[in-house]
Amino acid sequence: MRTLGVVLALASALALSSGAIAAGKFPKSADIKVRNLTEKDFPRWQQIVPNVYAYEDTHSPDPSGGVINTVSLIVVTPAGTVLVDGQGDSMDGTRLVESIKKITPQPLKYVVVGSDHIDHVGGNPEIKAAWPGAIWVATPASKATMERNKNAVLPAELVNDKRVMTVGGTEIHVLNLGRAHTGGDLAVYLPATKVLFLGEIYLRDVFPAMRSAFPTEWIATLKKAEALNAEWNIPGHGFIDSKEELKADLPESRKAIEAVIAEVNRLHKTGAKCESPQNCEAAKQANFGPYKDWALSGSQIPLAVAKVYQEIEGKLPK
Ligand SMILES: [Zn+2]
Repeated sequence: MRTLGVVLALASALALSSGAIAAGKFPKSADIKVRNLTEKDFPRWQQIVPNVYAYEDTHSPDPSGGVINTVSLIVVTPAGTVLVDGQGDSMDGTRLVESIKKITPQPLKYVVVGSDHIDHVGGNPEIKAAWPGAIWVATPASKATMERNKNAVLPAELVNDKRVMTVGGTEIHVLNLGRAHTGGDLAVYLPATKVLFLGEIYLRDVFPAMRSAFPTEWIATLKKAEALNAEWNIPGHGFIDSKEELKADLPESRKAIEAVIAEVNRLHKTGAKCESPQNCEAAKQANFGPYKDWALSGSQIPLAVAKVYQEIEGKLPK
């Protein structure tokens, strides 16, 4: 049944990538319900360019019941495969391993940790068990976070600024564009095909999720990502529609963060209090305009307001 489901999901995903979905047809939300999808429609994947796949499984982090996808990138070469970001738990990890094995018999050579959050690393033990020889790559900041969180799989190679790897003739740039959503964020760029996987640096139609973010630095990081002028800009959460829509929504995701920062600065000036996400009067007074309809806003608004208060008051981690 799983195989049939994946094949059908692949067929519909390919329909998406052929531009069958017109821009603006759906409300701007990454919630799978707005696309009339359920968790049974996942996992699914689609080919972005030859030998490069976006893989989606579901993640339900929201107490209000919102369900979004979590995106991994799979790059296949004649000398092995590269995975960027895993999935959320051991079941998701096992599904990802099975799916990669359906795409290619090549062994996994590298795993790049673009986001150290649990929804992207929780299934890593299953991936490591399937391919014990794979080399795990992350920023020093993510390594520290993963050690603190007692993650079972820790990176063996660290990237401070940029690491260029060539696997089976495919050049892969692992880029630290600056702190954004986690503080250890990495992006991966494939110069030959201009595919840029941004992971959680790019949350498409998801309310700016700031639990461990650096709000103002995130904007600078997104501007660097936009300046790469990639053809394909792949988000860590959000639908994989046409390359034109994905590119147009990359600055939209930045404008959402800018709008949140501006509104929270306004609230801070009024003297509205926000001691913590749980005790945040300012969050109740906030007006985020159209962004309040983006996925997960119910749970993310208090977190974002509290985080921007920390930034305004100089209380962010160094
Ligand atoms: Zn995530």
